[in-house]
Amino acid sequence: MVRARGVRKKFGHLEVLKGVDLDVDPGEVVVILGPSGSGKSTFLRCVNHLETIDGGSVHVDGELIGFSASGGRVRHLRKRDVTRQRREIGMVFQQFNLFPHLTVLQNVIEAPTGVRREPRAQARERARELLAKVGLADKADGYPRQLSGGQQQRVAIARALAMRPKLMLFDEPTSALDPELVGDVLETMKTLAEEGLTMIVVTHEIGFAREVADRVVFMDGGVVVESGRPADVLDNPSNERTKAFLSKVL
Ligand code: ATP
Ligand code: MG
Repeated sequence: MVRARGVRKKFGHLEVLKGVDLDVDPGEVVVILGPSGSGKSTFLRCVNHLETIDGGSVHVDGELIGFSASGGRVRHLRKRDVTRQRREIGMVFQQFNLFPHLTVLQNVIEAPTGVRREPRAQARERARELLAKVGLADKADGYPRQLSGGQQQRVAIARALAMRPKLMLFDEPTSALDPELVGDVLETMKTLAEEGLTMIVVTHEIGFAREVADRVVFMDGGVVVESGRPADVLDNPSNERTKAFLSKVL
């Protein structure tokens, strides 16, 4: 589903990604761990072309992201095509960024009716299903400010799912939440994982990584340092930098 090869990204003179390789199979859940500043968020943003890359390539579902390559020439895609690609990749951030003036249901149907031109009735029906899935069936007519942070984040997840993404990217989805609200969000993500959604999750929740991830990837200094089954990477890391990081967070 995802094939990243030698992905490089610079901000000015600062090289943040120094050749990231990552493969994600359909239905796989990959958790990315790593210290602050190691390039985790930047990498996720490169996967859906929120950042232009300076080298390497990212394919999602066989399609080159952000560029077209034909006849040996590589060109930037037009904005319209980038938008289309991005639509098929859902993203959930630390900050949920719901529209405050819209109800929960309106937040969830906004993109499918606006961008995908789904009929309203159909979008509403699906939104209700998604809200039920994230445990918020009874909140459809409430406003974001009436919800807890964990509930708002679950609305944000439902909103991303409403676009029927083939890939979901999560960037520290529970980092902004009070500890007692983290569990419900992780539980929701676990359900999605069990349903076969392909997910890349940046998180410091080691328990989630251990229980839900098919693979754990450790990034440091803009490269993938180690990758493997959760038990292997978490309990028996082979790289010194992974060991040092885990000794701080475990
Ligand atoms: P954290 O765990 O703190 O979220 P991270 O691994 O997600 O860290 P990134 O946010 O990808 O790290 O940032 C990697 C580096 O790139 C940092 O040094 C950061 O300051 C820098 N950086 C990120 N975005 C930009 C930007 N838009 N302009 C300039 N520098 C940036
Ligand atoms: Mg980050």
